[in-house]
Amino acid sequence: MERSFKKEVQALKLGDGETFRGEGILAVTKALLQAGVSYVGGYQGAPVSHLLDVLVDAQDIMGELGVHLETCSNEASAAAMLGASINYPLRGAVTWKSIVGTNVAADALSNLSSPGVMGGAMIILGEDYGEGASVIQERSYAYALKSSMWLLDPRPDLPSIVRTVEKGFELSEASHAPVMLELRIRACHATGEFAAKENLKATYSGLNRLPGPPRFQYGRLAHPPVTFSQEKLKIEERLPAARAFIREHKLNETIEGDLTDIGIIVMGGLTNSVLRALERMGLADVFGASRVPMLVLNVVYPLVPEEIRQFCSGKRAVLIVEEGNPDYIEQAVNVELRRADIQTKVLGKGPLPQAGEYTSEVLLEGLAAFLQAARPNGLDADTVAEKARGLFAHKAKAAAALGPLPPRPPAFCTGCPERPVFSALKLMQRELGPAHISADIGCHSFATFAPFSMGNSILGYGMSLASAAAVGPNMSKRPIAIMGDGGFWHNGLITGVASNLFNKGDGVLIVMQNGYASATGQQYIPSSTTSRDGPTPGVDIEQTLRMMGVKWLRTVRTYGVAKMVATLKEAMKTAERGLKVIIADGECQLARQRRVRAEDTDKLARGERVTRTRYGVDDEICTGDHSCIRLSGCPSLTLKPSPDPLRSDPVATVIESCVGCGLCGEVAHAAVLCPSFYRAEIVRNPTLWDRFIFRLRQKVIGWLGGGYNKKATA
Ligand code: SF4
Ligand code: SF4
Repeated sequence: MERSFKKEVQALKLGDGETFRGEGILAVTKALLQAGVSYVGGYQGAPVSHLLDVLVDAQDIMGELGVHLETCSNEASAAAMLGASINYPLRGAVTWKSIVGTNVAADALSNLSSPGVMGGAMIILGEDYGEGASVIQERSYAYALKSSMWLLDPRPDLPSIVRTVEKGFELSEASHAPVMLELRIRACHATGEFAAKENLKATYSGLNRLPGPPRFQYGRLAHPPVTFSQEKLKIEERLPAARAFIREHKLNETIEGDLTDIGIIVMGGLTNSVLRALERMGLADVFGASRVPMLVLNVVYPLVPEEIRQFCSGKRAVLIVEEGNPDYIEQAVNVELRRADIQTKVLGKGPLPQAGEYTSEVLLEGLAAFLQAARPNGLDADTVAEKARGLFAHKAKAAAALGPLPPRPPAFCTGCPERPVFSALKLMQRELGPAHISADIGCHSFATFAPFSMGNSILGYGMSLASAAAVGPNMSKRPIAIMGDGGFWHNGLITGVASNLFNKGDGVLIVMQNGYASATGQQYIPSSTTSRDGPTPGVDIEQTLRMMGVKWLRTVRTYGVAKMVATLKEAMKTAERGLKVIIADGECQLARQRRVRAEDTDKLARGERVTRTRYGVDDEICTGDHSCIRLSGCPSLTLKPSPDPLRSDPVATVIESCVGCGLCGEVAHAAVLCPSFYRAEIVRNPTLWDRFIFRLRQKVIGWLGGGYNKKATA
């Protein structure tokens, strides 16, 4: 059910002399194949979910090259896969979303980087930093520093990305250290072209397996006492080797400029944004030539002291464009220049903000401030700065003219199976009072927004139950933990359930069983009832919980709001101690609609009967109270002016996007609201029986004096 790249992956077969055109994420996959990897794996998460989807769709192509693909259960298992490169000349790459995924993988990464690697090992990080991010705002840089892994940050154009991937493996092997390659969302989805090369069959792979394990070497283990010598190796051998390789192969780039008394040192991934800002100020062209000299760091860790000294030498001031906090690069450049007694002034955080995304507006403002502070020879800095600020002066006027815009928080999809659970929680709390709710990562976290506004903490993916462990014993009412089935397999089963059972905990756990890792694009998980290639592994959440010793366990269809309310009340009030688990069962509506629509299209083409359910609100009965909207939050349930001239309040209405999930009707029933909801079935390619029943109904309604809409056809 993952997004399909079946068509696009054909580009992965391109060879010498051909031109690859496409998205950045696909280019990374092509670069991996050109680099001769033996294995790939990862765990989905924006902005690199599609990298895993591409790898999955490219499985046949990778099979021809003997490349093994592992869709891992979490980032820790993906990181541990890289262990294959410790002893063997096998190149491998894994991917996940950072910073959260790197946190999960941290133990394996430390234990990988300490002994170091023989085959090139690469971690492709979706650096989810900035205004569109969905996670905590921290930098992956800290992991590179503390574990002595090299951090690549390629300039976001396809030739640079591809070269950096290929050279990254060589760098890893030359210095015996794993490398991380960070891709921001714009790099993942940048489109472009590059000259393709033939894919490389690895010396050892699924097609030509290793003859056997190597001679036992204690030094390959991350275990004392060799961990002490490994720490020295990192600093005394691997770091100098990495720096030598970066210099020799010119992984970092220099852009010459005529304003030679100033310069910009920029993280590779931000290069295009800086060049665009300079171009708008009249200091660069659209092809990347700049009047301000630039040192482009496609490798942001380690820095190469000689390159820093060479670039800064003779300059009065340099600007460090380093997104995020802390300012690791700025500090390192300052130290290097002081050590070399070079008096170049270093600016960075100051003209540019300490934290937050460096958007085009932020960069324009920062560059203008830098130019005014540095005052380069041959440039009227004040005029250029004025021009830069003039570029966004209209924004304030536009904002004043428009007034404040309403916030648009993300929300559940129309018909989402998880929304009814929160409607039920609302109704349960109306009767029993508020409960502590530990939220989690996944689509269900949309319930933290209106109209539900539920959740007292979010501690990580699959962590909800564990994060309630110290709440329960200190609170009069049982806490409720909410977890998705993706989070359950990622972490929740061990961190939450096993720990709770081991400690004889109490409390309520709701597992949203929608069948996929839905928030990241409906990737399959161990308990999915379908799979991408034939039979499923047959792993079942209910059976797993029973085997682990959960006694109080109910599986409830999510759309049955009344039953869900009753089950929640029972879980909260029962005298039975121990963990109470409610499996809230309902397939992800987005995945369901994709499946059902395709099936319906085929049926219609064959002339078969197809029905579609729609709900509606009877205008004459709706009182304009709108409790239904407050209790469901469905985007298809909205307002329209009342057709009754004697009533001024708008009435509820269901719009065309309704998928007929039935929640609004269920809520009206469970909350004893009003009888204004009706259910209709739209039949296409009706049978003779459908036509007969339709005519009969017309007649009966006519006899009763109700009339009917003549436009309605069966
Ligand atoms: S993707 Fe699926 S589970 Fe997520 S909000 Fe949409 S329907 Fe619900
Ligand atoms: S039935 Fe109601 S809750 Fe479900 S999609 Fe339609 S309007 Fe929304």
